Amino acid sequence: MLIVKTIHETRIHITEARALGKTIGLVPTMGALHEGHFSLIRRCRDECEYCVVSIFVNPTQFGPNEDLNRYPRPFEADTRSCREMGVDLVFAPEPDEMYPHENITWVQVEKLSEHLCGASRPDHFRGVCTVVAKLFNIIQPDSAYFGQKDAQQVAVIQRMVSDLNMPVEIRSCPIVREPDGLAMSSRNRYLNPEQRRQSLCLFEALSLARELVCGGQANSAIIIEHMQEIITSHSEVRIDYISIVDNTLLQPLLKIDRPALIALAVYIGRTRLIDNIIVDPPA
Ligand code: AMP
Repeated sequence: MLIVKTIHETRIHITEARALGKTIGLVPTMGALHEGHFSLIRRCRDECEYCVVSIFVNPTQFGPNEDLNRYPRPFEADTRSCREMGVDLVFAPEPDEMYPHENITWVQVEKLSEHLCGASRPDHFRGVCTVVAKLFNIIQPDSAYFGQKDAQQVAVIQRMVSDLNMPVEIRSCPIVREPDGLAMSSRNRYLNPEQRRQSLCLFEALSLARELVCGGQANSAIIIEHMQEIITSHSEVRIDYISIVDNTLLQPLLKIDRPALIALAVYIGRTRLIDNIIVDPPA
């Protein structure tokens, strides 16, 4: 497995792989890899002949008071995992390699980026789309793998690719959870034991929402109220948002009469966690 830090060298290896007729798959990550990432990497490796994982904590998607500096960077463990999974190339640039001068060119997907996580993280998706567009230009993958854990990110990237005619297939992969239901996240390691215990309320709230929908409740406001009740009964947890939106344009749904994304973000102490489910109205 190659570990490459420069764009130039990465392009040389990708060109070689492509000359051999190999299909190229890309899994973009910020490292601190866990089973959620591994599921994407395994699928990429199974579906593509040359599997690239990028590890880059992208500064342009963090707000001024967010966790850019303390974001975990266990690089040795990450590359070991990638090697064990049969990754061909890890692209791990330093920030200066990706942003050698002030960045003044941005990719911004309007509408889809503005609410849900976009409301409390105003420039987040602009940073995500810009870095993903750069990675697509550097690696030129046939397919790229993203987790449904970041449902809004998948929707935004899919729209970027469609609007800009980028020649890449976006593959969305299911959320991987801890045995007790907490969605895996690199940020879970910030939680102390009490916060970890209270973090279960995200999954509890989503599970209740699913039960309510299955039982015939279609009124989004009522479902959100029940979810709020669960979450506010946890002293360490503060709601950022709970939203029920349609699963393509992410516009609020007052009534669940088509497939819906139920998404939430909370703060537990200083740690921001997100989770979601997709529900169908009962037949
Ligand atoms: P990150 O390193 O947090 O930027 O995540 C890299 C990719 O892994 C993104 O496409 C995430 O959606 C995906 N991912 C993170 N956690 C999970 C999870 N628990 N299940 C599935 N995919 C995940």
